[in-house]
Amino acid sequence: MILKVPPSAKNKMSTAPKLLIDQHGRRVDYIRLSITDRCDFRCVYCMAESMTFLPRAEVLSLEECARLVTVFVALGVSKVRITGGEPLVRKNALWLFSAIGQLEGLQELVLTTNGSQLEFQAQDLKNAGVKRINISIDSLDADRFKAITRTGELAKVLRGIQAAKIAGFESIKMNTVLMRGINEDEALNLLEFAIQQEIDISFIEEMPLGDVDHVRGSTFVSNDDTLKQLQSQYALLASTETTGGPARYWRVPNTSTKVGFISPHSHNFCEACNRVRITCKGELYLCLGQESKIDLMPLLRNHPHDDQPLIDAILASMQIKPKGHDFDLSRAQPSIIRFMSHTGG
Ligand code: SAM
Ligand code: SF4
Repeated sequence: MILKVPPSAKNKMSTAPKLLIDQHGRRVDYIRLSITDRCDFRCVYCMAESMTFLPRAEVLSLEECARLVTVFVALGVSKVRITGGEPLVRKNALWLFSAIGQLEGLQELVLTTNGSQLEFQAQDLKNAGVKRINISIDSLDADRFKAITRTGELAKVLRGIQAAKIAGFESIKMNTVLMRGINEDEALNLLEFAIQQEIDISFIEEMPLGDVDHVRGSTFVSNDDTLKQLQSQYALLASTETTGGPARYWRVPNTSTKVGFISPHSHNFCEACNRVRITCKGELYLCLGQESKIDLMPLLRNHPHDDQPLIDAILASMQIKPKGHDFDLSRAQPSIIRFMSHTGG
């Protein structure tokens, strides 16, 4: 199948003069785009066991995804993360990576994946222009991995990591969500694995996104506790590196491994927030932890040959980007009703 970005979209983009600056003076230069809400896994912290996914017509086509990214890049966005759901289970996803990978002005095309398809796709993704890759892995024990993902096979993901190493991405990072009573005892093992593989690892605190099958507060593990656990074995060195997001980094001395801690519950990163998220339905969420959003799909579909309405709406959305998120684990109900797989992690 040949997929094409409409030429009108391409032409108008190069003349769009504005940058994305929000009402608090923050420059937005990073988008995270979810290209599907579907997934071959059902991780317990991300999804309920039984999920209803969106009908195809309500999901952005790959051409619409490419057109949107083209507009954002013309508005000064230099980093794009493709996520989901599981982006690599979307049919023809590789076409989208190739289309985006060629955009002038885009400095970083990166991907978050569960790794299940990487053994088949890693090299093509690298050739398409993907620079860095995050692979989610929450356990190195096959039975436990299966229990957490409900359907996943650890061996496949490990083969995916090897394929990614062979493909030669600039960096490979494992993403791990630790849960109390489930895999909190694996922090050190997982770090040791990352060191052995000469890749990075980030620990992500569980976020109250969507109604899953357990009470969120009951499984929450704070990154402060994880850091203490790792420091009992490693003299970690704090790094000043930042991505403008909720991650803090540490270096493991005498190794090439960096350890990240993504702690969305601490508010202090919001001041430097440089990102927005686009769901697979074309909703532009200005903050992961707030409901402020605009719908881009009608603008894409009602104006197939004119990007100006889209550009105007994106520029206007900067006025509703919230100052910070509003996560609260003490609430019985999830803070945000939508699942991470819908918004894109
Ligand atoms: N399927 C891909 C994957 O698992 O990497 C990409 C999408 S997934 C939603 C992106 C990241 O979000 C994963 O690293 C996952 O562990 C994390 N995640 C999902 N739900 C979460 C939650 N409720 N709290 C914290 N992290 C979550
Ligand atoms: Fe799928 Fe990723 Fe969510 Fe796991 S975290 S269910 S792999 S979208």
